[in-house]
Amino acid sequence: RDFCKSLPKIELHAHLNGSLSEKTLTELGSSPDDVAEYQRLQRTPPEGRNLSDCFKIFGFAHKATATPEAVYLATKNVIREFYDDNVIYLELRTTPREEVGIMTAESYVEAVVKAIQDNTYDILVKLILSINRQHSPELSKNNLDVILKLKEKYPNIIRGIDLSGDPHKGNFEDLKILFETARKNGLRTTLHCGEVKNDEEVSQILEFRPDRIGHAPFLHPNYGGCSKNWNLLRMLKIPTEICLTSNIISGTTKSYELHHIKEWIKHDLPFSLNTDDKGVFHTDLSQEFERALKYLHIKNEQILEISSNSVNHSFATQEEKNKLQEKLKEWVYTNC
Ligand code: 5GP
Repeated sequence: RDFCKSLPKIELHAHLNGSLSEKTLTELGSSPDDVAEYQRLQRTPPEGRNLSDCFKIFGFAHKATATPEAVYLATKNVIREFYDDNVIYLELRTTPREEVGIMTAESYVEAVVKAIQDNTYDILVKLILSINRQHSPELSKNNLDVILKLKEKYPNIIRGIDLSGDPHKGNFEDLKILFETARKNGLRTTLHCGEVKNDEEVSQILEFRPDRIGHAPFLHPNYGGCSKNWNLLRMLKIPTEICLTSNIISGTTKSYELHHIKEWIKHDLPFSLNTDDKGVFHTDLSQEFERALKYLHIKNEQILEISSNSVNHSFATQEEKNKLQEKLKEWVYTNC
């Protein structure tokens, strides 16, 4: 526990509204009933839950972050909590959201950016903006316009674009043009991939050659994927953002011991360890590393290697990456 807690960590896959602690929900004025229900859902064992149930929990967070002031406070708290867990680099992702008459997609993103700008803790924070696959292509196109406008304004904060949302809904092919446009405009790309069995979409996503993919539980043939896609991933070596606890609780992976990441390790494919939604899944990054040590029989040296590789997979600038690598080296020098 001490090793994982004190290790300077790199978080590349954290959804803002999935990362709210109960304390933040209460601070934002959520009713005791909502907080109690949030806790109940958080603690329901994996057997009693599926991916769709997990998506219901986001409703509680969205209700609590329905004004720019609440979004600002939520972002500040999330940054502080990652910092308290010794995360030195955080890529936060969130979907621009409008609340009619109260908040526009633009004022939503501005509130998140302001919280990042106002951060005084020793943690470097970048923003990835999400396209939700449940939204209509028109709404997503409008969100992309906002994203590109604000990327011009905050090029060193807004670094990437993500595809997320309920994987049972929508499809990548309809949204591909938006990701192509984002890439042409200098945004890095990361796409949730293979969270349900859908070989055709996984193939389309890999062919797009994103900078990173998320989760990928149904990609390897032993886990319901097809050999063609697995071989393509092996060839392209696209880094995968792994979220152990999230996969177990949402039921896309049977157990920590049988987690699909074993195939990535066996074939020496690049990956990072992440929390996904530390509020929804009641975890933190130290615990994710502990579980990797315990269940996947990863050694401390490999954990260091994962952290260092994660820096390379990040959307930070080269200069920022060099500084982060220095911090990791310093920690190894004084602690190992
Ligand atoms: P937000 O974008 O509102 O800050 O964070 C919550 C949103 O992130 C959810 O509504 C959902 O669209 C997305 N999200 C969070 N966790 C997951 C996940 O495990 N898989 C997918 N596909 N999307 C997720």
